Amino acid sequence: MPIARALLWIASAGALALLARTVLGAAPPPWVAAIALGGYLTLAAVGAVVPQLEMYGDVFWRGEPGTRGVALTFDDGPDPATTPRVLELLHAHGARATFFVIGHKVRLHPELVRRIAADGHAIGVHGDQHDRLHTLRSPRRVLEDLERAIGAVEAATGARPTLFRPPIGHVSPRTVAAARRAGVTIVAWSVRARDGVGSPAPEAVAARIARGLRDGAVVALHDASERGDREPASVRALPQVLDALRSRGLPTVTLDELGAG
Ligand SMILES: [Zn+2]
Repeated sequence: MPIARALLWIASAGALALLARTVLGAAPPPWVAAIALGGYLTLAAVGAVVPQLEMYGDVFWRGEPGTRGVALTFDDGPDPATTPRVLELLHAHGARATFFVIGHKVRLHPELVRRIAADGHAIGVHGDQHDRLHTLRSPRRVLEDLERAIGAVEAATGARPTLFRPPIGHVSPRTVAAARRAGVTIVAWSVRARDGVGSPAPEAVAARIARGLRDGAVVALHDASERGDREPASVRALPQVLDALRSRGLPTVTLDELGAG
């Protein structure tokens, strides 16, 4: 069991013990209760925003030791302005990747999703509306959003996706429950481009990624911006990333080939 999940269980047992003491008339001093509550909420929040901790359920974020290859992953597409550019670069380098597409964009550009699949890449879902607050929504709404995105990909390609990267990578117990119901594996990353906010220089993005390139790595990039209003730095950094992979003799693989799903 992941350490963070064990920690959450121990903290929950401690919270219940404090509650039991209070009910039995031996309430702890208010400052003890306040520190316990604050610590518990902090632990729970860290578990949601750091998916690699796997606090609430299993998350695939790197290959098992001994697996060969690097999984490049692209979020927030498809976008007619930038996704074709990414596909051309991958094709020119003989590289394969996994695309986490947003349901409402899939319905607008199903032909792009078919092209991603035809080029030999894997396709996962990234939510239907890219709801940044999805961890706070009702379990039903989280599941409905996920199912809508899955349905959009299935309608476009004829294949049901089995991989799911939650919007902004947050994983709550509701995310885990919805993924289980929908039959998809939750995917995070071992190295991240961090080009979702602001406009980092492509060189900085490529250098950050290069430090995390090794067998079993899962690299989180963007083939589109969330609103489709600019070109993410990942796109211009991609040639340097592909060159770094080639010079180190690291092959690219889809997430399925790395052992996800
Ligand atoms: Zn995203």
